[in-house]
Amino acid sequence: MNTTTTHILGFPRMGEHRELKFALEKYWRGETDAAALESMASGLRKRHWQLQRDAGLDLVTVGDFALYDHVLNHIELLGCEPARFGFTGQEDDLARHFTMARGVASEDTHCGCSHAAGHSPKKAAALEMTKWFDTNYHYLVPEFDAQTVFQLNAERLLAQVREARAAGHQVKAVLLGPLSFLWLGKSHDGTDRLSLLPRLLPVYTDLLGRLRAEGAEWVQIDEPILGLDLPDTWRHAFDSTYWRLNQSGARILLATYFSTLGDNLRTACQLPCAGLHIDAVRAAEDLVGVLDWLPAHKVLSLGVVDGRNVWRSDLDKALALLHRAAEKHRGELWIAPSCSLLHVPFSLAGESRLDPEVRDWLAFACEKLKEITLLKAQLGGEISPAVQWQISQQRAAIHARRSSIRVHRPQVAQRLAASVPGDDRRAGDFLKRQQAQRAHLQLPLLPTTTIGSFPQTADIRAARAAFKRGELDATGYRAAMQKEIELAVRKQEALDIDVLVHGEAERNDMVEYFGEQLEGFSFTSNGWVQSYGSRCVKPPIIHGDVQRPAPMTVEWTRYAQSLTNRPMKGMLTGPVTILQWSFVRDDQPRALTCEQIAWAIRDEVVDLEKAGIAVIQIDEPALREGLPLRRAAWQSYLDGATRAFRISAGGVQDATQIHTHMCYAEFNDILPAIAALDADVITIETSRSAMELLRGFGEFRYPNEIGPGVYDIHSPNVPTQQAVEKLLRKAMEVVPVAHLWVNPDCGLKTRGWAETEAALAHMVAAAKALRVEL
Ligand code: GLN
Ligand code: ZN
Repeated sequence: MNTTTTHILGFPRMGEHRELKFALEKYWRGETDAAALESMASGLRKRHWQLQRDAGLDLVTVGDFALYDHVLNHIELLGCEPARFGFTGQEDDLARHFTMARGVASEDTHCGCSHAAGHSPKKAAALEMTKWFDTNYHYLVPEFDAQTVFQLNAERLLAQVREARAAGHQVKAVLLGPLSFLWLGKSHDGTDRLSLLPRLLPVYTDLLGRLRAEGAEWVQIDEPILGLDLPDTWRHAFDSTYWRLNQSGARILLATYFSTLGDNLRTACQLPCAGLHIDAVRAAEDLVGVLDWLPAHKVLSLGVVDGRNVWRSDLDKALALLHRAAEKHRGELWIAPSCSLLHVPFSLAGESRLDPEVRDWLAFACEKLKEITLLKAQLGGEISPAVQWQISQQRAAIHARRSSIRVHRPQVAQRLAASVPGDDRRAGDFLKRQQAQRAHLQLPLLPTTTIGSFPQTADIRAARAAFKRGELDATGYRAAMQKEIELAVRKQEALDIDVLVHGEAERNDMVEYFGEQLEGFSFTSNGWVQSYGSRCVKPPIIHGDVQRPAPMTVEWTRYAQSLTNRPMKGMLTGPVTILQWSFVRDDQPRALTCEQIAWAIRDEVVDLEKAGIAVIQIDEPALREGLPLRRAAWQSYLDGATRAFRISAGGVQDATQIHTHMCYAEFNDILPAIAALDADVITIETSRSAMELLRGFGEFRYPNEIGPGVYDIHSPNVPTQQAVEKLLRKAMEVVPVAHLWVNPDCGLKTRGWAETEAALAHMVAAAKALRVEL
């Protein structure tokens, strides 16, 4: 075996204490100038490179940093800013950057889900934002048309390479590859994105030459689309593309991650590049094929440390993979995390809120750097006493986790084992349930409801924060929340809404609220991960078997129901969404963890029913975003996800009505799965597509009841009664009126009361006007 090189594919950008976030927001508020922002960014980069070096990595990675988003950086680097922004080239660099990112009159509203897809308000004219593969990171979508031209604008990147070299580092620059860049963009005039490739390639070749001249020893070119089901034309384009890029003389490490290479494996191995990186965590099965096909002179970079999750690596397992590779592959073997560390929190330092036992099982970005160098030491056989000690610590933690009672709760396993086939089915079929529910609930046609949350006022947030800090005692807190619930109930009664909600005043976040009350979850104090721009999320960590020690929402809901004769809808987050927005165990299949959560939610559903709640909503806004990247894996995911939902809903009587809610998404290709949830009522976000999304449900003959959102909650605009009526009439064309509900698109927590009441008044008036005609 030859030498081993250690590196990472990318590092978190926000800084240890989210310095970048705060600096950006200060800059946007006009409180600092560009120079201050740039200098703080440069400081962050330097620190992060030094961390890589201090941990013992051989190469530092340059070009992964972004003020807002790395795809946006590429739009500038490749000089393809959309013409619609009307840039003249005279404007200030940063002004241009943030105009594309945030729009001109950007209005930052968000429904509270931890994802942002489809939520950029159109007026603001920012670039569209969408999910980066199957992560919770969102990138800005490049826009192409027949007129798109590319022009190299490399100064920023080259300056960073210089910065790093001046600090004495060995540099590997990182770029998003030309094919992935085109793939991830959107064509606005029907132009085939692939037809732009000949215009794009000279810019890349030029860039590679410049990087080389600047002293970047390696260039990592990310082509994550090699993990997708690609049309043949795209797959074939790789050959000529990389043949061209290779002419630049740069040493290219082609990087793939997130998913199996599948039918792209041979292509990936045989392209004229100096090396290939594969994700040996997500796609360990690729290793065999790669060892067969990768030419001996190439570098093989094995991503053996999980870049998407927070667990300490089992070094023995990783080492076994590395040994296997080393035996077969005669070229250089590199060691890396599976993908960029952008998707994990910065470091464990200062995580005092975590149970020390659980903390010991974790590794965030900084800790993962050290794992890489430990692996290198072991692979090379240079094991000093200090390294030996670290290895044994690591091994001890892995063993402890395997047998800990915090992980394994026999009751949970027993309960799942005891489940019988019908557990995921309601007693009666939909028609029978519908009858029972109609008799029980006595609702008018076109019943009105809302999605759950009402405005989270400053008062509510202050009370919750004071309670968390211990400044407000439990009695005071309960009184404050009950006051809010009463307010919400009275307002809904005054509006004459049919099915009420309690308003979710007591909830900060729809996943955290449940995670905090369930066993098996941990919470960090500083475990932030970038979601988009300056926005970060702090996902819970599911470390063990999940179970519900006590009811979570019953008291609040019972109180709310006691205030009114109208049905009060209980409000829960579903198992798939809780799973999707958390860091998940890696020691058992996701589907099993999901099923455990499902049983815990089922207990809550049953308890709500016992408390006299006749309508219960189980939100699943994340159902679609959990879809695997490869279509071949869709069905088994959807089977598991829908089964988990049905388990959570399956414990109640026919007369109890189960609702679910999903935010904006392309539903059409998963309609069978949505139907398989068998919720009595589904509410979906449709108003911005003017009910177009609903058409799919109609054509599919979606069997159960459905509430298409009749107004957009992402802006303070109040819809007119006529606008709502118009949308409802459209909905009635595709869904039988007896199946139709009337509700807003999503929760109202980001709105103010004034616009909320005005909008709901028009919504109810529209429903009433149409009822008269029916
Ligand atoms: N019940 C939640 C709310 O109204 C649903 C939020 C969501 O769909 N993201 O806030
Ligand atoms: Zn929603």
